[in-house]
Amino acid sequence: MASNHITAGLTADHIELRELVRSFVDERVVPTASEREAKDEYPADLIPELAALGLFGITVSESNGGSAIDYVSYGVIFEELARGWMGLASLVYTTSSGAYLIDEYGTDDQKQRFLPEIVIGRRMSGIAMTEPSTGSDLKQIKLTARREGDDYILNGSKIFITHARHADPLVVMVKTDPTIEPAHRGGISLMLVEQGTPGLSYGTDFQKMGHRGLELCEVIFENAVVPATNLLGGEEGSGFYQMMSALDRGRIYMAASSTGMARAALEHAVTYARQREAFGKPIGEHQAIQMKLADMAIKVEASRLLYVNAALNTEANGRASAESGMAKIFAAESGVEVVTEAMRVLGGYGYIKEFPIERYLRDSLLMPIGEGTNEMLRLLVARELLSAG
Ligand SMILES: Cc1cc2nc3c(=O)[nH]c(=O)nc-3n(C[C@H](O)[C@H](O)[C@H](O)COP(=O)(O)OP(=O)(O)OC[C@H]3O[C@@H](n4cnc5c(N)ncnc54)[C@H](O)[C@@H]3O)c2cc1C
Repeated sequence: MASNHITAGLTADHIELRELVRSFVDERVVPTASEREAKDEYPADLIPELAALGLFGITVSESNGGSAIDYVSYGVIFEELARGWMGLASLVYTTSSGAYLIDEYGTDDQKQRFLPEIVIGRRMSGIAMTEPSTGSDLKQIKLTARREGDDYILNGSKIFITHARHADPLVVMVKTDPTIEPAHRGGISLMLVEQGTPGLSYGTDFQKMGHRGLELCEVIFENAVVPATNLLGGEEGSGFYQMMSALDRGRIYMAASSTGMARAALEHAVTYARQREAFGKPIGEHQAIQMKLADMAIKVEASRLLYVNAALNTEANGRASAESGMAKIFAAESGVEVVTEAMRVLGGYGYIKEFPIERYLRDSLLMPIGEGTNEMLRLLVARELLSAG
């Protein structure tokens, strides 16, 4: 692309932010990402640097110590982080998602207790919805929170929870009134569960094919005692809608991160195509390789435009479920395709661990599954189309 290439929707401020995060990623993330990932190593040493860049305050209001950046900036940051290492993007995302929920829906006391420390990287966060028997159909969750005096007593379990051992608080979706049907209309709430909660324990640590560097845990609640002051917002029954608004934003993160990984793979493929020779000339001079590179670049560019569009619509309308869903579906699927094609361009070198392409492939394969599967999101997009006036 020409050095003066512009992306529709990006202002000079976005470009400045992009350069800042890009420099950090080039200097501090890219050189060690594959090694850290291979060791499945938690990047504790990078947390102060991420905090210094303000990345834990991106979803937090200025009055609570954050920067509450716009959603285009949010996407730009995750594209750059994921271009370096998806594990790091995931760490910032899970924490800033928990922070978003507290900032948007928390009581003053909850904001004061948690947000200033999250912003400076002293506390991490995460979100826990999925249960062993249900992921896509969250109305069917079984984890209950029963009010007893000044506390709630939680019983049940969550599964596949990213960053669970570090999250403090972990934002947990619970049923406060199991009699309400359908449950999402008033039966579900969010609880801020702190480390050291009596009755809280962590079960299996799952081994993952990608998104390594962060734990993925089972979280168990056996008569866990959570103070009623940790019920998000102080009122029961709004948890489903609160979490759905976080997930709409999460889909911009997924789309932007997929774009970042695809861009990284494309950059590697272009460099390689210039250098590698076959049949007397660089492989980039063979038209079959040129076709691949062009198709990859189109998908990266289109993915970016879709996440920026989703971000602009979120900014303008508060929520943009259909646009965020479209961006996530397209970027996640394009990401897998682009990385796979990059692997083909690198031939045998694409498949071995000396090059990061195989890491991008393992990481990109989660993107059609997480934050609402692409199947569920297609249903959401169709529902919005059919119900539009
Ligand atoms: C690495 C990783 C990190 C994760 N991190 C978190 C986290 O931090 N917090 C958290 O809460 N969860 C997390 N998850 C869980 C993830 O969000 C769920 O796995 C995902 O939402 C899908 O749920 P499920 O696995 O129960 O699949 P299911 O809901 O059982 O779906 C199985 C298949 O059926 C399809 N399907 C289901 N219903 C329909 C339908 N009505 N129409 C068409 N198709 C349908 C789905 O699209 C999917 O293909 C993580 C998972 C992984 C692997």
